[in-house]
Amino acid sequence: MDTRIITIDGPAGAGKTTVSRMLSKKLGCVYVDTGALYRGVAYEIQKQGIDWEKDEILEIFLKHLDLNFVMEKDLLILISSGRDITNFIRTPEISMLASASSAKVQVRAALLDIQRNIAKIKDAIFEGRDMGTMVFPDAAHKFFLFADLSVRAKRRYDEMPDEIKDIKQVQEDMKIRDVNDSQRKTAPLMPAEDAIKIDSTFLTIEQVVEKMLKCINKA
Ligand code: C5P
Repeated sequence: MDTRIITIDGPAGAGKTTVSRMLSKKLGCVYVDTGALYRGVAYEIQKQGIDWEKDEILEIFLKHLDLNFVMEKDLLILISSGRDITNFIRTPEISMLASASSAKVQVRAALLDIQRNIAKIKDAIFEGRDMGTMVFPDAAHKFFLFADLSVRAKRRYDEMPDEIKDIKQVQEDMKIRDVNDSQRKTAPLMPAEDAIKIDSTFLTIEQVVEKMLKCINKA
């Protein structure tokens, strides 16, 4: 691979997206939030009423799926069949459906090329659950970012619109997603052997970025 790829994996609310965005500005590369792709799949499943647990139905649905990213300034826009769906993929229902449907091998396979094709043409920071382990095992730098559940839930809660705020529910959903994501058979959430682990429980975003930059510059 001629491009420089950096991976950041970790559970929801660990700060991956904010850190990736800030780091990408400092390094002059793009960042790719791969969770948005899984959310895009979940959004289309919900919108089209797909019975995704039936393999045959899921496979036909995935054949027609047309997801891709467009970069606008420093924001990532998710396009599904020509339509901008970025603002529809952050609901609690989509989070849970993305977590459940992402355990399907077929879903993961369908999204693999989209991710690897971006990496072929651009230096990039990829954040997700299996970036360092499965998608980019040869990445130049790998990080695993985590934090205590209560702190992660509070961060997510603070970002939510008032009408859907419920801290207990946020924490409960996150706990279920942690279990789904780390215990599934295909590409479970876990640090790559050569990943640098960073606990962001007591760190600011700036401090996390600083730590990562030090590791990157040292290598
Ligand atoms: O990162 P985010 O919380 O937006 O991801 C939503 C869901 O998508 C996760 O809970 C996880 O199940 C799935 N996901 C995944 N692999 C990735 C990124 C996200 O399975 N690389």
